[in-house]
Amino acid sequence: MEIKYVSTTCPYCGTGCGFNLVVRDGKVFDVAHWQRAPVNGGKLCPKGRYAHEFVNSPDRLTKPLIKKDGEFVEATWDEAYDLIAEKFKSYKPDEVACLSSARTSNEENYLMQKFARVALKTLHVDHCARLCHASTVAGLAAVFGSGAMTNSIKDIAESKCVFVLGSNTFEQHPLIGRSIIRAKEGGGKLIVADPRLTPTAKQADLYMPFVSGTDVAILNGLMQEIIRNGREDKEFIERRTKDFEKLKEAVMKDDYSLENVSKVSGIPVESLRTAAEWIATADVAALIYSMGITQHTVGVDNVKSTANLMMLTGNMGKPGGGVNPLRGQNNVQGACDMGALPNVYSGYQKVTDEAAQKKMKEMWGVDELAEGKVGYTVTEMVNVLAESPGELKAMYIMGENPMLSDPDLTHVEEGLRNLEFLVVQDIFMSETAELADVVLPAACYAEKDGTQTNTERRVQRWKKAQEPPGEAKEDWKILCELGSKMGYPEQFTFESPEAVFDEVAAVTPSYHGMSYARLDPDGLHWPCPTEEHPGTPILHRETFAMPDGLGVFSPIEWKPPAEVPDDEYPYVLTTGRTIWQWHTGTMTRRSWSLEMEAPIGWIEINSEDAKELGIEDDEVVRASTRRGSVEIPARVTPEIIKGVMFIPFHYKEHPANRLTHNALDPVAKIPEYKACAVKVEKI
Ligand code: SF4
Repeated sequence: MEIKYVSTTCPYCGTGCGFNLVVRDGKVFDVAHWQRAPVNGGKLCPKGRYAHEFVNSPDRLTKPLIKKDGEFVEATWDEAYDLIAEKFKSYKPDEVACLSSARTSNEENYLMQKFARVALKTLHVDHCARLCHASTVAGLAAVFGSGAMTNSIKDIAESKCVFVLGSNTFEQHPLIGRSIIRAKEGGGKLIVADPRLTPTAKQADLYMPFVSGTDVAILNGLMQEIIRNGREDKEFIERRTKDFEKLKEAVMKDDYSLENVSKVSGIPVESLRTAAEWIATADVAALIYSMGITQHTVGVDNVKSTANLMMLTGNMGKPGGGVNPLRGQNNVQGACDMGALPNVYSGYQKVTDEAAQKKMKEMWGVDELAEGKVGYTVTEMVNVLAESPGELKAMYIMGENPMLSDPDLTHVEEGLRNLEFLVVQDIFMSETAELADVVLPAACYAEKDGTQTNTERRVQRWKKAQEPPGEAKEDWKILCELGSKMGYPEQFTFESPEAVFDEVAAVTPSYHGMSYARLDPDGLHWPCPTEEHPGTPILHRETFAMPDGLGVFSPIEWKPPAEVPDDEYPYVLTTGRTIWQWHTGTMTRRSWSLEMEAPIGWIEINSEDAKELGIEDDEVVRASTRRGSVEIPARVTPEIIKGVMFIPFHYKEHPANRLTHNALDPVAKIPEYKACAVKVEKI
């Protein structure tokens, strides 16, 4: 019996914890602690601890499948490639769209956008960051010139006041929660604002329950209180920012007095006053947010408001401070960095910029690319499919499951069924793959080399621990073979993921100084522009990434969600996750240690609301919105604010996204998962 340990990176959240996969006779069979892992120092949350359990599941896809007469039949790779190439070549470029994946590596995301732009010549390539942090990319880039977490996970522990808004950090990024605990142990205060008394909120020195969708009002109220008391950082504002007077004019309105903000948000005036005082007077304060901030029709406004608060209080560019969006999936930062977005190439080089187009054409050795305008986002693709049948005819989806993850599932299914040809590449037969014409079996994280970029911009290595099952292949290999079949062998001949990464580094300024040799074992934070550069754990130390180096204050007015409660649908529905499951459950629901802890969905109902509705704990109720209904067990609890209901979105048996609203932020095109109007009835 041969045992080996392979150090790699967790496939779940954006924290980027490292662990050892334990391999016995060529098969992964356990996870062991990797004590020197750079982010987590050997500690793991339950998902990381059991990240081996789905790897050798009997449900893994092992052969290409082609649908014939409504049934999947096994095919050879050549048959599948020939069919895909023939079909894709038969459409005009703008009739085909690609979805890349935040669960695949940097190299694979880079290749997917290259495949879309070079082989298909389509403008339409995007991935699921659209659904989680598109508001961060757009919002922080507008304020700071860079749309990423400004500080590192480690230095959150230096903070003297951590303000967590719209993030259940202790459940969703538990190893970042450890940095918050360290900040508390160092005398720092923790403020948590959340509609639910989450495990994170339970650790707070000040907990502020609030009505989902009132973030800008809260942030403006805090800023008004800080300015009223003369506690803004005048020196920082003068030296490092512009447009402060515009911000001041917006936030000093009577609408944002603490009394009025309290009426809108439900947070007591005294709590708001205390929060403003703690944030403004701490030696250094950090703001942490996640999808509670971003998944709104005002997601970009929410993000800009968080940046306003941290610039106002001079908490940028130093350890223990900053604006810290916590990315959801393991490689959502990297998938964005790699240009798997319709508006940018890798490194956020704009597709509409002629110099960037020229550079990419030279690097890729092609005379023409899809160029000149921005393609469709994920959310726009679904709308076009459902509302303008025939405009998009074919789709290539790698490692995404929109049939459970996207808002308003009836609308999503209607759209996907309007496609003439759908290819899905995944490790399991997902709800989306069931609709496909061709399913390609992919390798999982344990079966390939590569890199990912975690939430703090640290580029980290993945290492192959076992061979993929059956005939499954690494996504990078499939993309290369398909690119060659489409007529671009030169552009898609790579010996290894490392060779792909070398091209990424050559063409992406913030990755220029990186190589596999330098990334092992600790990784590097981008920007890392030269081979000698040590990486950049903290952004904006001296200047912001703007042409004039100044951060830009944005005057923002609070707007309510697109759909607010009324007589027919009198409650606010918000959605989220549990520590035991992951997104659409394809991996965690095949990990028995996780699945047994949380095998079914539920709706959280405030105890007073439940009493008024005559609903008992555990009773199956019907939750309905204007999009559809779900029958689901009730979890009656005082730990959610009255008037708000919560459903985790992992469960196909109780699909929260059958209820959610696909109204979009006008800039980021992110949907409003965190607030829509719902009614709940006894069955
Ligand atoms: Fe994996 Fe995130 Fe848990 Fe770390 S905190 S072990 S990255 S799921």
